[in-house]
Amino acid sequence: MNLILFGPPAAGKGTQAKRLVETRKMVQLSTGDMLRAAIASGSELGKRVSGIMERGELVSDAIVVELIEQRLPEAEAAGGAIFDGFPRTLAQAEALDRMLEHRGSRIDLVVRLKVDDDALMQRVAGRFAESGRPDDNPDSFKVRLDAYNTQTAPLLPYYRDHRKLVEVDGMGSIETVASAIDKALDAPRA
Ligand code: AMP
Repeated sequence: MNLILFGPPAAGKGTQAKRLVETRKMVQLSTGDMLRAAIASGSELGKRVSGIMERGELVSDAIVVELIEQRLPEAEAAGGAIFDGFPRTLAQAEALDRMLEHRGSRIDLVVRLKVDDDALMQRVAGRFAESGRPDDNPDSFKVRLDAYNTQTAPLLPYYRDHRKLVEVDGMGSIETVASAIDKALDAPRA
């Protein structure tokens, strides 16, 4: 079972992914977490991406596709992946389909968390105050939201056309959103 948690930054993808790791023993593949780990380790890759991430821009497709590819065997062994923050461009979505197909697998479901921009701005202001994550500052967050709206949201028709897309109201409590996701996961699929 391979699931994409789809939605704008701060929609709750990471929170919901972590819960699914607990409850379903799937593997969370968060490109944002992988890139932050690269920065924390002081690696070459980390040095290349830190400025881009701090500004809220997208790093190159080649970088994130490679990070994901390296982790696919582990996810496969666990019985499935939760893609969190990936894919973010059409090129990434197509690369993911190709990589999975090559391994005899596929994306089974895309859950879109719908949260309006004002609510996101409010959420992230709280998160910035708490964690101080550099790209949660209001200027970078605007760039991230813009990147989502212009580069990532256009993927929705791609997944809709492939009949993979389920929309979930992401404005409710963590528990309400969690049970809506569970319902989507447990629904019969073609
Ligand atoms: P996230 O934690 O998913 O919000 O990602 C934080 C930042 O990492 C993003 O604002 C981008 O700079 C970078 N990033 C994460 N995932 C991707 C991706 N799939 N494509 C391009 N950039 C990404």
